[in-house]
Amino acid sequence: MGLIEASRLKSPWILHYDTGSCNGCDIEILACLTPLYDIERFGMVNMGNPKHADVLVCTGALNKRSARVLKNLYEQIPDPKLVMVVGTCAISGGVFHNCYNVAGGADKVIPVDVYVPGCAARPEAIIDGVVKALGRLAELQEVARGKKSA
Ligand code: SF4
Repeated sequence: MGLIEASRLKSPWILHYDTGSCNGCDIEILACLTPLYDIERFGMVNMGNPKHADVLVCTGALNKRSARVLKNLYEQIPDPKLVMVVGTCAISGGVFHNCYNVAGGADKVIPVDVYVPGCAARPEAIIDGVVKALGRLAELQEVARGKKSA
């Protein structure tokens, strides 16, 4: 494993995008940054720029207006990249799934690697998702190096 690949595994930068949540899951993501849960021990840093991110973290039901933005953000993140959806809304639309302006979950427009269930998703579940995402990122790096098939 090269230095850049190892660095990306030790400090995956995330881009958080809310496609239409009630903010409950967003608050739980913020809780993960507090000293109690300390998600930064995995090197995770919340970025504002998709071009610097490795992991797209998505919360909230996918409303029809944010679908295009979500796809656009996803396409700007360099490969290898991951998508982690947090909360029942981001998985399926959750309690909002029948609303006139909701298309469903994030996987209606972009491929999703890790699903973190819950309403709201608990910080422990989010951290578990992060660990799974890091494992998946390592697999993608191997695929990119041609050692494994996807
Ligand atoms: S899963 Fe629950 S807490 Fe999270 S955005 Fe949806 S309604 Fe809010």
